Order: sequence, then structure tokens, then C-alpha cells
Amino acid sequence: MFRFFRTVSAAALLTGLSATASLADELTAWRLFISDHGEPVVHVLDALNGNELATFNTKAPAGLYRSDSGKTVFAVQRDGNIVQAISSGISASDHGDHGDLKVEDAKLLDTAIAGTKPVHFVDHGGNVALFFDGEGIARIVSEGDTLAGSPSIREVKTAAPHHGVAIAFGDHVLLTEPNKAKPEELLVGIRVVDAEGARVSDLHSCPDLHGEAASGNLVAIACAKGLLIAQAGEKEPSIEFLPYSDKLPEGKVTMLLGGKGLQYFLGNYGPSAVVLIDPTADDAFRRIELPTRRVHFAVDPVRPKFAYVFTEDGKLHRLDVVSGEIVKSLALTEPYSMDGHWSDPRPRVAVAGDAIFVTDPLKSTLHVIDAASFEKNRDIAIEGKPFNIVAVGGSGETH
Ligand code: ZN
Ligand code: ZN
Repeated sequence: MFRFFRTVSAAALLTGLSATASLADELTAWRLFISDHGEPVVHVLDALNGNELATFNTKAPAGLYRSDSGKTVFAVQRDGNIVQAISSGISASDHGDHGDLKVEDAKLLDTAIAGTKPVHFVDHGGNVALFFDGEGIARIVSEGDTLAGSPSIREVKTAAPHHGVAIAFGDHVLLTEPNKAKPEELLVGIRVVDAEGARVSDLHSCPDLHGEAASGNLVAIACAKGLLIAQAGEKEPSIEFLPYSDKLPEGKVTMLLGGKGLQYFLGNYGPSAVVLIDPTADDAFRRIELPTRRVHFAVDPVRPKFAYVFTEDGKLHRLDVVSGEIVKSLALTEPYSMDGHWSDPRPRVAVAGDAIFVTDPLKSTLHVIDAASFEKNRDIAIEGKPFNIVAVGGSGETH
């Protein structure tokens, strides 16, 4: 069973009323979903007290992605040739002048989407596009249908198997275009297809395409010489090219995150730097040098001014995305060198409510950092090699 904190509204306390079913209670609930580096398992924890709520067995070790709504966590299993869906059990709904929060048990759903080598996951407005590299096929499902147990899967094919990505814009889909002569090499660009799968645009050139994210109404896609910036248009998505500024050194972005609450993008730029991107600014790119090589980074959805970068010396850094500066650093783990294989077990970062969580796979530990003070709060033991981590939750009223 799940546990959560319940606070009676201040007004009720002041008037000496006890909480009753007719009074709206404020509820806060956050959950962590943590997969293992080597075992086909997903742990579900209550982020507020660290209690384990459930453990789900997947087919293969999973990469975890949460939907924008937080209602669903997708377990993408490249080596299991399947994507499984977990109902997070937490759903927020907008009641206009206030928000409601409903909390139920987390559930591994029966619905799964099968195909060869799924890797990239993109949720855009509740349309989840999963790209299966082994087939060069994108499979698109609606989150609502997936939770209801009856997803109709829309397939969009490309010319050849490749490490690709798809992004759904309503009925339109942005789709990577493989390098026809050498499909195993990097991609040439993005094309747009309509509801019937017919091509509606010329190729938007984007050599070396890798990395995509959404922030506000914009989607950014990283290329060798700049970013494609896409947004919904009147008939079809409009796509523009934003070249890297000539103030940046030689390099490129290959991984992107989108700001929540503030519209910006955070990307890597070489092994030991990140870049803050505001596509609407005159000077769109600000590069921030890191003390050592970057392991992982995450944006803070609760405190939009901050993002976090974990570096191979075992430190977590707080990045102020407004000033573009690292404002605090905290030593957390033994060094995790970026030498060795890219997929070796190394820490991952997620933010849940008032805390930042960092997995420490070689120590079977989850570190908990107080988000306000940026000091370590406690450790939670997690069996095996805790690796990927996503958080869902929020606050709202229950009536
Ligand atoms: Zn309500
Ligand atoms: Zn990739």
C-alpha cells in the first residue's frame, strides 16, 4: 500500500474545524521508478519516505521514460524487443481554480508494444512515438488508450533500419531520414508525414541528427551544425534551423532536455560542457564548462530556475539556468569514470518534489539531496545496480 502526507488546510485549522470529507484536503505524492542496470526489474518507491511500494518484472533491463502527464512510465527494453507500460498511479487534473490529485497503486499494464530494438521515446501532447531501430519503424500510441488497455498502434515506416526518432505533432509525424547509402551511419535529416503517411515536406537537412526534446510549444532536434526548431503550424508543423553561434567552439549537441516552467533547452556540448539554449534570444547559446566530464543531467520541474549535472568525479552540480552558472557542487559518490563503455553503470538524476535523487549503481544506493539546501539528506539502499530513474508526482486536492 502507498503512504502519503496529508495536511489539513490552514483555513480549517484557523477556524478550529477538523477535516471532514466535505473539506478539500491537500495531498502531496511523489513516486520514483528505478530500473536495474543488469536485471529485468523496476522498483517503485514512495519518494517522500523511501518505502518500496512495488517491484515489477520486465522482459529485459529497461530504460525508463515518463509521459508528460506523469500518468504513465514506459519501460523501453532494447534487448527485449518490447516496450512495456506502467500506470504510475498518480494523476493530476486541472479543475480551473485548483488542481486535483488522485493516487492509486502503480500497475504494470498488460499492454506492450513489440518490435525490434526500441530505443528513442518521445511523448508530445499525449502521443507517444517509439522508434524501433531494428526495423526503422515508428510506432505511435496515445497515452490515454494505453492506460485504458486498448492502444491502437499507428506504424510509420522509414526507408531502412537505423538509430532513429519520431515525434508526433497531432496527426503529423516528424521522422528521421536514414542515410540510404550507409544506413548504419548517421542520419541525413527529418521529414514530415501526414495522417496518411504521405510526405508533406522536403527533407529538413540535419546531418548527424541525435538528441531531441520539447519545452513549452517548441521541439528541438540536434544536428551537426545547429538545431532544428519545430512547432505546430496552421496546417502542418513548421521547422526552422538555428545554427550554433560562432562563439561556440567546434562541437555539437547530441543529447537534449527541455526546461519545465521556463522555456529553454539544455544540451551536452563536448564531453565536459553543457549548453543552455534559448531559441528566442538574440544570443541563443550559452556554454558552461564543467570541472570534469559529464555523466548525466536533469532539469528541475519544481524549481524551474535550476538544472543538475552529475560529473565523473562523483559530484552533483546545481546549474542556475537564468544566470548560466554552476552555483553549488556537492560530493556524492566515488568517481565514475567516463572511460569504458558508454553503457556502463553510472549514476542518473531525477527530481521529485523537494528532493533530488541520484542513483549510485555500484553501491546499491540511492542518494537523497534536499533541493532547498542542496545538502545530502539520506541514503536509501536499493538491491542490485539501481540505474535509470524517473519521478512522477505533485500536489493537489482530494474532494
Ligand atoms: Zn477539484
Ligand atoms: Zn540515441
